[in-house]
Formats: sequence, structure tokens, C-alpha cells
Amino acid sequence: MLFKGVPASHGIAIGPAFLLKVEELNHAKKKLTSQEEATAEIKRFQNAISSVRHDLENIADSMGDVVEGKQILEFLLLLLQDPTIKKEVENTILCGMVNAEYSVSTTLREVVKKFEVMDDPYLRERVADVKDVGRRVIEKLTGTENEALNNLTQPVVLVAKDLDPSETAGLKPGQVLAFVTDMGGRTSHTTILARALSIPAVVGLQRITSEINPQDILIVDGIHGRVIVNPTEEELNYYREVRKRFDEAESLLQQMNPGPAVTEDGVRIELAANIELPHEVTLVKKLEADGIGLFRTEFLRLVQKSGENEEDHFEIYKTIVEQMKPKPVIIRTYDMGGDKFRAGLDTVREANPFLGYRAVRIGLDRPAEFSVQLRAILRASVHGNTRIMFPMVTHIEQLKRIRDLLVLVQNDLTVRGIPFDKNMQVGIMVETPATVIALDLMLPYVDFVSIGTNDLTQYTLAVDRGNPKVAHLYDSFHPAVLRQIDTVVRLCHSKGKWVGVCGSMAGNPLAVPLLIGFGVDELSVAPPLIPDVKKMIAVVTTHAARQMAEESLSMETGLRIRALVHSYVIGKYPEILLDENDWETGG
Ligand code: PEP
Ligand code: MG
Repeated sequence: MLFKGVPASHGIAIGPAFLLKVEELNHAKKKLTSQEEATAEIKRFQNAISSVRHDLENIADSMGDVVEGKQILEFLLLLLQDPTIKKEVENTILCGMVNAEYSVSTTLREVVKKFEVMDDPYLRERVADVKDVGRRVIEKLTGTENEALNNLTQPVVLVAKDLDPSETAGLKPGQVLAFVTDMGGRTSHTTILARALSIPAVVGLQRITSEINPQDILIVDGIHGRVIVNPTEEELNYYREVRKRFDEAESLLQQMNPGPAVTEDGVRIELAANIELPHEVTLVKKLEADGIGLFRTEFLRLVQKSGENEEDHFEIYKTIVEQMKPKPVIIRTYDMGGDKFRAGLDTVREANPFLGYRAVRIGLDRPAEFSVQLRAILRASVHGNTRIMFPMVTHIEQLKRIRDLLVLVQNDLTVRGIPFDKNMQVGIMVETPATVIALDLMLPYVDFVSIGTNDLTQYTLAVDRGNPKVAHLYDSFHPAVLRQIDTVVRLCHSKGKWVGVCGSMAGNPLAVPLLIGFGVDELSVAPPLIPDVKKMIAVVTTHAARQMAEESLSMETGLRIRALVHSYVIGKYPEILLDENDWETGG
């Protein structure tokens, strides 16, 4: 079950639900019979206020240097001491001869009403602060403090109608993985606090509290404002990966080294980023990458749950190319099949999925659906520097059909008066030996190519890229792979086409000097790898890179080739590892 709300605090969390009990500002009236009783009630009210003030000050102290948290608590303390509110409560007790709980709830309900009709959304969202203070005072008066939050036995995802700011401030990030609420908006104090505490949160979900049972498993996607209840195994795996990437990216930002990638002898190297999700653009921009060398759009299928929706795709592509402008963004059409998102394909089980129904093979088999994506990309192309790329093209007929389909879509857009970039660059991935060997036949139909070394290695060496039993045979430094890269670069340059590498090899620092030496025009790597790759580029001269690349072509094994690069860089880059096979994952 999927719920959509407001993404309040970025991050991904997965965990069991914990439903928080709801306290309303609604308390029974009790009639007082004497002046003494009224005076005692006022005293009780004043004691409750002092006690709440004490609690709030303690929470503020425990927040260390979370400045926003302290400011919010100070605001609550101010509200608590507001003389008008205080006077109003005391007058209600005295004149109405009613108990303190009732006086607090009626007075604050009036204050809430005033805030609720304010034009300014910021002030409207202060309602939660008033309720927060009221709840705390009433809990003190009735002796019913919400202990549940303090007695959690396992990390949970909090589910509540609304969370009070002071409750949020008291949350322990280790114990509360995330929270989701029916109420709330982008500027509520609860939301601001969640961000300050780095707790992922989705708010404004409207009815989530009535749909969730205790212990349901929740995925909270604070990036897109989604909550998935009792997810499938595929969704879990996907979000575990997204969470890993998000966490890596966050820690990376602490130690980033911005600026362009330049070799030791001052040559500028194009270093772009591979992304799977739109939010990664923020990191890509902070890292000052030279563009997006690979946007794996197939991941959107899972997030959007509506792969055929042109508008969803258009909006995402448009936002990304606008954000990256004037730097280029290569949008790769769906690469489903193989090991990716088989569940969404409704096809029979295949004996060899990597040799089967995959990528453009699916697209060309379902041209209507494929055209939807092409239209969305073409429409986005006027909003920035957009390029389109097709995965797993092995046959020239496929390339011709793709070009025909593109022309059809372009004609349709022209007839409808919808603008698109007529000069948008069109490229293909080089991922199979067939594509390498017959590349001269394909080049007339493309503006560029990008070498997908993950698949090129798999198909060249006949080693399933995901099978641990044969992982020791999977080696992008194998002479058969390196020689193909050399061939592709030479051929492309002889025809005036540019060539990138967007497989994980480009993010492997030991491979970087070789790829530069072969003359690759652009490296595109997973954002978290950008600093390491930049560092490697900075310690290599183009002359040495060319020499190493040349020498590697006559070497016998991948291990020797790695040792060659390793011995060159070890003095300048001591942290480099020789056995880095496992780096070639997930890039
Ligand atoms: C590749 O094959 O190297 C590549 C970049 O594509 P993917 O990893 O998405 O198959
Ligand atoms: Mg591939």
C-alpha cells in the first residue's frame, strides 16, 4: 500500500510502525464550589507551567548544538509564559469556577482558532506549537504523561496524527528511524526539527493513522514523500539500496573536494555522474560534476509506479536538465530485464535473463510504451542540455528502428506545435562484443557512444555479473576488455564521435589512468566515487597515462595490468588498494 504526502525531511528509513497515542485539547468540565478551591486550581496551574518549563529547558539542553531545535523550544517557552494566555486561563478558573484542565483546554482552543484562520501559512502552522504547550500542561495537571516514547524497546517508525514540536525535539535519532503524520506541512516546527535532527519524515498524509496497524513494516521515503506499508521484497531491496546511497552521499558531503578534475600536467578531464534518482542531482551539483553521463531511468518505474505516465517522466527529466543546465544530461531509455525489475515486466521466466528480453529489445517490442518515454525526453530537451542514449543495442536494425521511432515522435510533436531540441545528441551504449566489432556500421547513426563496462565485461568473458560463484572471473582489466575499449575509442575518434565510459570501471581509481590513456573523452561515475576519481586524476600525467594504456595492451592478465598502474601511483596515492575488485559494484 502506497501513501503520498509532503517530503518533510530527507532520508530513507525502513522499520516497524509505532502508533502514538493521541491527546486532544479537550477536557471535562468540573465545577468548583468555593473560592479556596479556585485559588488551589490556580496554584496547580502555575505549578504545572513551572514543571513544563523545566522539562522544555531540559530538552533544549540535551539538544547540544542543534540550533533550530533550541530556537523552537524557546518559542514554546515564550508561548508558555505568554501573560495574556496565562491571565485568560486564571480568569476562566476564577470567574467560571471551573477546573484548571478545562480552563487550559478552552483557552487554548480559542488561541488555536485564531491561528487557524491566519493568512500566513507560517503562522497557521504555529497551531501545533500551541497544542504542544497545551498538551504538556494538561498532562502535568492530570498526571498522564506520554511515557510510551521513552520506553521504546526497538527502533521504530513513529506514526501519529501530529507530532508536537517538543515531542519531536525529544526524539532519539537511533530509536526513532523516521516519522509519518496525518497533519503537518513544510514549515511546521515539527518538520524543521526533523530536518535539524536528520530524522526522515513524511507529513500531511491525511489518513495514515487509520490505515496502519502496530508492527506493520513501513518504508519512509522522505525524499519523494512516500510511505509504503508492508512492502514487497523487491521494494525492500530497492529502498535498501537507495538508503545506502543516501547515507553514503551524506557522509561524502562532509569531506568533499569541489572543483574540476585536472591531471597533474594540467589537462582537464570530463568527469560526470551516474544517477538513478532525481534527488541525486543536488549532490552531483555540490560535487561540481561536469554533467550527468548516465541517468538510469528504469529506477523511476518503481518509484513512479506508473511507467507509462508521460507527464511524470517529463516533469522529472525537465527538472533534472534545468538543474544541470548548461551541463549535459544523458538520459538513458529504460534498461529493464536482466537482473532489473523483472517483476514489472509480466513476462515468463527466462532461462538466461541477461541474454533475453532486456533494454531496447523490450522497448522495440512495445513501441507505443517506448514512444511515451521518447516523447517525454524530447519535450524535456528544450529545457536544458539533453542527450538521449539507448542501452544494449546489438543489431543495426535496432538502431535504424530507434531512429525511425524518434523521427515519428518528433513529427508528431511538430504537428502539435510542441517544442523540442532538433539537435539533441543521440548515443548508444557499447555493452557487447557485437557492438564493438560492428561499431563502424553503427557510428553513422549516432553522435556519441558510452561504454558500459559492466555489461561489456559480462558478455565478453561470459561471466554473469551477479553470480558470486564466478565473480573471481569477472575482471574489467582483462586484456579482452581493455583491447575493446582501445578499439572503440580509436574508431570513434577516427569518425569524429566522442566516447565516454559509464560502467563501474570508470569509478575505479586504478582504471582511471588507463581510460585517460586510451583517450576516453568522458568518465561517468557514481557520485560517491567522484572525490576518489578526482584525486587519482590529479596524480597522473597524460603522458604516463598514455604509456600505461599502451603497455597494458601487450600484458597477459588483469592482475598484472592493475599492478602496473598501482606501482605508478602508490607513491602519490598511498591509500590506493591493489585488490579493489569489489569497488566495481553499484557504480
Ligand atoms: C554498464 O553495463 O556498464 C552500464 C553502465 O549499465 P548498467 O550497469 O545499468 O547495466
Ligand atoms: Mg549495462
